[in-house]
Amino acid sequence: MSVNLNTSAKTAKYLALEEQYGAHNYHPIPVVLEKGEGVYLWDVDGKKYFDYLSGYSAVNQGHCHPRIMEAFIRQAQKLTLTSRAFHNDLLGDFARYITGYFGYDKVLPMNTGAEAVETAIKLCRKWAYQVKGIESNKAVIVVCEGNFHGRTSTIISFSSDPSAKEGFGPFTPGFKSIPFNDIHALAKALEDPNVAGFLFEPIQGEAGVVVPDEGYLMQAKSLCEKANVLFMADEIQTGLARTGRILACDHENVKPDILILGKALSGGMMPVSVVLASDEIMLTIKPGEHGSTYGGNPLACATSMMALQVLKDENMDINATQMGELLRTELAKLKSPFIKTIRGKGLLNAIVIKHEDPDAAWKLCLELKENGLLAKPTHGDKIRFAPPLVINYKQIMESVEIIGKSLDCLK
Ligand code: PLP
Repeated sequence: MSVNLNTSAKTAKYLALEEQYGAHNYHPIPVVLEKGEGVYLWDVDGKKYFDYLSGYSAVNQGHCHPRIMEAFIRQAQKLTLTSRAFHNDLLGDFARYITGYFGYDKVLPMNTGAEAVETAIKLCRKWAYQVKGIESNKAVIVVCEGNFHGRTSTIISFSSDPSAKEGFGPFTPGFKSIPFNDIHALAKALEDPNVAGFLFEPIQGEAGVVVPDEGYLMQAKSLCEKANVLFMADEIQTGLARTGRILACDHENVKPDILILGKALSGGMMPVSVVLASDEIMLTIKPGEHGSTYGGNPLACATSMMALQVLKDENMDINATQMGELLRTELAKLKSPFIKTIRGKGLLNAIVIKHEDPDAAWKLCLELKENGLLAKPTHGDKIRFAPPLVINYKQIMESVEIIGKSLDCLK
């Protein structure tokens, strides 16, 4: 196996700065980016790449989408933050727009994905005590093994990834983990009358794009309904057209009781996340019980409305379906002995690498970088292929050629 690694003096300077002054909580591919447009990124030496990660699906609409950027700049020049101590003239518009878009009564805006998940957990517990009538402090939320919902201390409490947890205890109680895509395990867990909610990713993204069997979400929703348990979908990575529908839950026509969104909600401009729910759920939280200084700020509201509008105006869900199919078909045609599995939905895809070297996926990503395509392994042997949803036929064909050529480095 031979991997080329060309690091220019300029790149090396930036890497050294981060290494010396930044916390070592990430292990990035050694590329330093300074410009993005559509499906492309450019590094500090002017080299152009296909972006096959899309900021972990935060840039579904493509880098620096002109309409989103225009909305962002226009609002940035007028008013950016008031805090929720006062009203601003965009929060109402935004709330009406996004609740109409997804069909919910109310929205609660936050910033990062993890904060939105925390919000959903708090809402679910309040609802459990006030509406369902569970005894105080006894509510249980069922989660799935292999989940990724963020990095806060409560969220990592129910992670099954040792590297997310080790050294960070003690952990928050009140969660029960069951295998993902196992409807019997869910049915069994729901026998506990203290279960208040089922929190899940419709497709497990960080786990390496694990797609459940067809019908799983529909059956899970029906079981939750029967048990009077909230069906809480974390669509932070799968939502906003990424899998070929506006929500991944739309593939099975199931409507979450609590919908959690983030990432592409601003098209990559700034952190914007939301939780959407019915009045029955949302109105259990009263003034002073939850919030965030930046949540619902006018800059986020203006940017987010345009980011959502652009998804619809440009039919990005349809393009994701078509280009995703093309990508998986063309990858299969490579017939590479080093690809064990190709899986995904829409433009949320992954390959699983087959190789005796445990670092093969990392080495392949370095080679892909040399050849002009940026991707990152997850959990050792999986590589996510998730380009912006504006990618076209020619660009898919070009990128598959790069992937085919790069796989040769594993020989
Ligand atoms: N939930 C899911 C499904 C995610 O994929 C992520 C991030 O990758 C998060 C939550 C956390 O989002 P953030 O990094 O914005 O806190």
